[in-house]
Amino acid sequence: MAEIVVVGAGPAGLMAAIRSAQAGHRCVVVEAQPTVGGLAGSFEVAGQRVDHGSHRLHPATDERFLELFRSRLGSDLQVRPRNGRIRLGGRWVAFPLRAGDMVRNLPLSFAARAALDAAAGLRRRRRRGADSVTFADEVSRRLGPTVAREFYAPYARKLYGIEADQLDRDLARRRVSAAGAGAILRRVARATRPQGRSFLYPRRGYGQLSETLADLAVELGVDLRLGTRVLGLRAAEDSVLVSLNGGLLDADAVLTTMPVPALAAAVDPSPPPAVVEALQRCRSRAVVLVYLVVSRDRFTPFDAHYFPGPETVVARLSEPKNYRDGDDPPGRTVLCAEIACWPGDELWQRPADQLGELVAADMARVGLEIPALEAVEVRRLPAVYPVYETSSMGDRATVDSWLRSLVADRIVSLGRHGLGVLDNLHHVLAMGEAAAQSVGSDGAVDEAAWDRSLDGFASHVVED
Ligand SMILES: Cc1cc2nc3c(=O)[nH]c(=O)nc-3n(C[C@H](O)[C@H](O)[C@H](O)COP(=O)(O)OP(=O)(O)OC[C@H]3O[C@@H](n4cnc5c(N)ncnc54)[C@H](O)[C@@H]3O)c2cc1C
Repeated sequence: MAEIVVVGAGPAGLMAAIRSAQAGHRCVVVEAQPTVGGLAGSFEVAGQRVDHGSHRLHPATDERFLELFRSRLGSDLQVRPRNGRIRLGGRWVAFPLRAGDMVRNLPLSFAARAALDAAAGLRRRRRRGADSVTFADEVSRRLGPTVAREFYAPYARKLYGIEADQLDRDLARRRVSAAGAGAILRRVARATRPQGRSFLYPRRGYGQLSETLADLAVELGVDLRLGTRVLGLRAAEDSVLVSLNGGLLDADAVLTTMPVPALAAAVDPSPPPAVVEALQRCRSRAVVLVYLVVSRDRFTPFDAHYFPGPETVVARLSEPKNYRDGDDPPGRTVLCAEIACWPGDELWQRPADQLGELVAADMARVGLEIPALEAVEVRRLPAVYPVYETSSMGDRATVDSWLRSLVADRIVSLGRHGLGVLDNLHHVLAMGEAAAQSVGSDGAVDEAAWDRSLDGFASHVVED
């Protein structure tokens, strides 16, 4: 069987390693960080486990992955009722949306205009179905101009840093799952029952999912090397030479989840100049995560607060303690504020104490006074949201076809950063599985099978 090197011990890489080992391949996983999980990992702030922003395991996760997690985690995998809320027009609306709450709390003028839009929805879809070019058009076609203009447009601006009419409609396809007002009404009906708005979450934080995958991989004989970075990938005939910060590995095939720009810099032969130029035009938004340690047992009963509007810089505030029935220390809670920005800009560089003040001021503006702060910690994630600008979609296609061409050299790029896509954890698990299954016993990659998998991944829609 083949020698497979997997780059990255996030969920995509770990699932690729598990399926490789189960197929009988020898497998080494190389992870730059000292811990597993990548973006889906957990770590401690003030003695409490926290995630990289709000993370939940969605019930849409394929049954075979759910079964794996249930069998390994047992009662540590908890089923929890979602309990979030959205700040809309100066009011709080429960999220996921629920019928009674909408009647009581949706701003009246918003509700009336959205309902009129919905009534006109069928005609609008027939008339303009083929015309959508931008995110703004597509959301307006599906959900009506009121929801598009007053909810999605400001939220998109906050997350992606540009106007909704400069974002491609592909973003709506990947990010907005409701096909129309009917779909929203069905969701509202479902979420009105508590069991219709549940999610799964492990007792020790979201990272426990990746930790359990890593344990399984090691039990299956995978050689997991933490704190080891891949610096170069040289394609030779029927093999790939992998250079690390401390040694070399000779692989029959490489399954990599490293970010595409890093892959382009590492791979030999280098990508053609047209690909390098295209990559420079494919921008991603960064996220600054501000963790506030608050001297109170709970801040609110809610798991997450969403802020689509321009009145706050913060896009979402979550309270990890409320995602689980866990062993968190009493008398103290940690809040996590997510702030989207451009890598290197003024917000990105702002010191932790000033970011803490910014979040506190934002929250005071929406009536959420934060009591005495014990500490502020910050994590900076440089490339979180790929920005699907209409002007860069051609460049994204150029990069995609270069990634597809690497498969002939036995290098398969997958995962959130390896494909430059928006995703959920269950999507990248499917990618890891498909990548492992495309490798033959001699390490050659079945190009047609991987192409079909990539076409399938294009239909992934991110669940909130
Ligand atoms: C704010 C936020 C909220 C989210 N919420 C949810 C949610 O609620 N539910 C959900 O299902 N999903 C959610 N996601 C998505 C989820 O985090 C991702 O799907 C998942 O982490 C992607 O996994 P991955 O393995 O592809 O990449 P990553 O998790 O990024 O892992 C890649 C790994 O590769 C390593 N690496 C990179 N370069 C090298 C190198 N050169 N050498 C060695 N190692 C390297 C990195 O250190 C990292 O550990 C959210 C994401 C974000 C950003």
